Amino acid sequence: MEVAVKVPLHRSFDYVLPQSISAQTLAVGMRVLVPFGNRQVTALVLRIKNSSELAADKIKAVIKLIDNAPIIDSTHIELLKFTARYYHYPLGETLFSALPKALRIGEDIDKTSINYLQLTEKGERLPTLRANKQQALLSQLAKSGKSPITEVKALGFSKATIDAIVEKQLAEVSIEFASHWRTDELKVAPKPKLNAEQAVACSTINQSAGYASFLLEGVTGSGKTEVYLQCLEEVLKQGKQALVLVPEIGLTPQTVNRFRRRFPNTPIMLWHSALTDNERLQTWRFCQKGSCAIVIGTRSAIFMPFLQLGMIIVDEEHDSSFKQQDSLRYHARDLAAYRAQQHHIPLVLGTATPALETLHRAIGGRYHLLSLTQRAQTSTDNHYQLIDIKGQHLDAGLSHASLAYIKRELARQKQVMVFLNRRGFSPSLICHECGWLSDCQRCSTSATYHKSMRRLVCHHCGEQSAPPMQCPDCGSTQINPVGCGTEQLEEALSEQFPDVALSRIDRDSTRKKGSLEEELERINQGGARILIGTQMLAKGHHFADVSLVVILDVDAGLHSCDFRATEHLAQLITQVAGRAGRSGEPGTVLLQTHFPEHPLLQDLVNNGYQHFARYALNERQETDLPPYTHLALLRAEAHDLSLLLRFLSDLVPAAPVPKIQLLGPIPAPLERIAGKFRYQLHIQGEDRGALHAYLGQMVSYLTNNKLAQKVRWNLDVDPIDMM
Ligand code: ADP
Ligand code: ZN
Ligand code: ZN
Repeated sequence: MEVAVKVPLHRSFDYVLPQSISAQTLAVGMRVLVPFGNRQVTALVLRIKNSSELAADKIKAVIKLIDNAPIIDSTHIELLKFTARYYHYPLGETLFSALPKALRIGEDIDKTSINYLQLTEKGERLPTLRANKQQALLSQLAKSGKSPITEVKALGFSKATIDAIVEKQLAEVSIEFASHWRTDELKVAPKPKLNAEQAVACSTINQSAGYASFLLEGVTGSGKTEVYLQCLEEVLKQGKQALVLVPEIGLTPQTVNRFRRRFPNTPIMLWHSALTDNERLQTWRFCQKGSCAIVIGTRSAIFMPFLQLGMIIVDEEHDSSFKQQDSLRYHARDLAAYRAQQHHIPLVLGTATPALETLHRAIGGRYHLLSLTQRAQTSTDNHYQLIDIKGQHLDAGLSHASLAYIKRELARQKQVMVFLNRRGFSPSLICHECGWLSDCQRCSTSATYHKSMRRLVCHHCGEQSAPPMQCPDCGSTQINPVGCGTEQLEEALSEQFPDVALSRIDRDSTRKKGSLEEELERINQGGARILIGTQMLAKGHHFADVSLVVILDVDAGLHSCDFRATEHLAQLITQVAGRAGRSGEPGTVLLQTHFPEHPLLQDLVNNGYQHFARYALNERQETDLPPYTHLALLRAEAHDLSLLLRFLSDLVPAAPVPKIQLLGPIPAPLERIAGKFRYQLHIQGEDRGALHAYLGQMVSYLTNNKLAQKVRWNLDVDPIDMM
């Protein structure tokens, strides 16, 4: 048989069954315990075959079967094999990282399931037993019928008593997964009547037969979630399951409750990083057995098994949290497309600001474009204003014009949101005498000053130190903050508006578990009227009274070495702007910039994201960038720079490779983090097949390369972050 083992090798392994285990009991998708080197490891059976390229005496025997039935089916194995191939990640590690931890470490698949105890035919005749306790249990079961073992135990029957009657074949243990929702009549709570565009979207999606991908493009508040809900209704009516992927930060009680309220008798489960290992296994198993109808989850939910999947929805499909940024660097949205094809079902990608990749597919006709152009409840558009800050005096990053707007809205009893994507008090300290900067010693970046903690903190390696009282270079005591972060903004605004309640939302202010939810609730109750935040505040939350949004650091996104920076900036501006004007009247969005005439900004502000995105796509085409070519990034890091450069240069062939462009070695945008140098190779090709063939060769070369043992490297296929 061929099995996958969780080791960093791009291959499978052959084993045989020992004499003692019958071949009939073996099936693809079962876990087996195998000897591996001098260890025993859990392996997954991929294929049953009668021959091997290895000599018979070289093949080791399986130690034992862990399961008596497959834990995943062959379609699921195909998905994981595809994932390993596409992302050039070791097969065994891909397979096992997609399983709940309990299964990875060889535990029983039903360890979290509810066991039931029930009389057998023999037991039902209620034979007379010598042990009183056992006799009592028989009559209890005769009265209660099939009962959860936990309940039986709660009545005072011990495990020994239960085991004894099972041993005598008077009772049997079974596991039951309830899936009556599939045939029960679906309950649907009262719902709004769809507007014309929503109705078209809904019926187009529900009338599609087999696989089809839809881009549901609609501004925030245009009623996308309502479309999801009404599409899901059809799926549920057919007894089929659905997967709803949401960004990490989008899994709020608000969203989930909306699904639960709409379908009150439908089992809906959540999947996210805060689940315990047991909860994870249980949810996974419920899904596989059809006991769960809808899973709402973050990116790794894409690897959930389903009994009968009927639809996949990816909400905020442009969100970068769908891409895993370490180990197996998969993109859940892209795998969703593969899965939808596998299962011949519709895929719905919803967003106000489609990723350029997705839009490209929609324009090319591979995805159906469905547009919602009207806000469902209000029909007003926000009003953008570019504020030129060239030569202007700024107070904690705020211009006079912005302050005047804030004052006006607060006087009208409205909420105001000020957005700055930089936490801390200031991104650096500077010596006024000699120009010394508070650089991190281990990274090529500065350490951020956090005033409330009185610390310098490097946001890249986490290194902390006390801010110096005197300049380490010249001894001067004139050490001042340069630049502005959310902490400083908060201080300045509370000085300006001492009577106005204020709330700051960033990773520092919400470190404590549950504090984000608490703070959001306070804002919604109208408790805070100035909201200060990083991008954490930009996503998904509904604030009814926000009438003004001020965005302070637009320029960083306009001038970045990452070719996706402008796309992300435009998405962010549009998303943040979506927080304003929800209460019925149009909101105002202020963008502070040194470059008010920048064509991208002008386009975004005057013509909206849709227009901007098409313009940005043209630019990508002219510069041969994704989605018009395919890109992979080989990142490497080491303490020893010359070793690192030798490693990467070795990979660049002397002669050009047909259909492949190689760029590098070039330094990463942050050349040093935590003392390690970081360099990259960009590998690009118009032809996906040719690129992947080349990456495959590169990876197999690297697995046997001596230098590759001494540097840390990873390959990122379709990277969304060039760091
Ligand atoms: P999105 O997901 O695009 O942000 P939602 O589906 O959350 O939009 O809709 C915004 C608000 O409008 C919600 O309060 C929703 O209940 C309401 N809504 C959506 N569709 C309709 C409709 N057809 N008629 C009335 N209200 C609607
Ligand atoms: Zn100095
Ligand atoms: Zn650092």
